[in-house]
Amino acid sequence: MERILIVEDEERIASFVEKGLRAQGYLTTVAGDGDAGYDHAASGGFDLVILDIGLPGQDGFTVLRRLREDRVTVPVIVLTARDSVRDTVAGLEGGADDWMTKPFRFEELLARVRLRVRTAARAPEVTVLRSGTLSLDLRTRRARAEDRTVDLTAREFVLLELFLRHPGQVLSREQILSQVWGYDFDPGSNIVDVYVRALRRKLGAARLETVRGMGYRLPA
Ligand code: CA
Repeated sequence: MERILIVEDEERIASFVEKGLRAQGYLTTVAGDGDAGYDHAASGGFDLVILDIGLPGQDGFTVLRRLREDRVTVPVIVLTARDSVRDTVAGLEGGADDWMTKPFRFEELLARVRLRVRTAARAPEVTVLRSGTLSLDLRTRRARAEDRTVDLTAREFVLLELFLRHPGQVLSREQILSQVWGYDFDPGSNIVDVYVRALRRKLGAARLETVRGMGYRLPA
């Protein structure tokens, strides 16, 4: 199992990233400042580091520069403030493999995480998720229900992928919202229900069960 170090001082973001990555099966460790982040990363036990730039103690740039000076080659994804192009350029020159601007959606981060961890480990990748007569091709982004091909919008695809990765498990609206839409989305929004209805229309009403007071479930 891949181990990911999250160096982030904002608890809300650290916990959002950590929960999301754990749900995907990664092992995670959070460091809340640059000094602890450097120590963990330099210890060599991680397959990937997600590194915030604005940190108490040494900042993310310093952590990154020191790691590279010390020949620590772990892949690093840098988190920067929105539109902070100078940060981004400096981050890449400092040895980052990729970067994300805040605020970001979890799915965007996950795509980069998967790419970096896969590049590092060359792990074989699952490309089709299945549950009964339902399948989702992660390359073509098309679903099949019985023998019908179903075209999905980008967001419907991410939502269905989430259900197919957790068959039989009840997913709360909050979980779905943070996994598919991101931590800065209004928790009072009914957008999850709207998209679940859309998936039911396309795939068949019985594909997604409502679990009253708890959320939704893809029957295993
Ligand atoms: Ca910060």
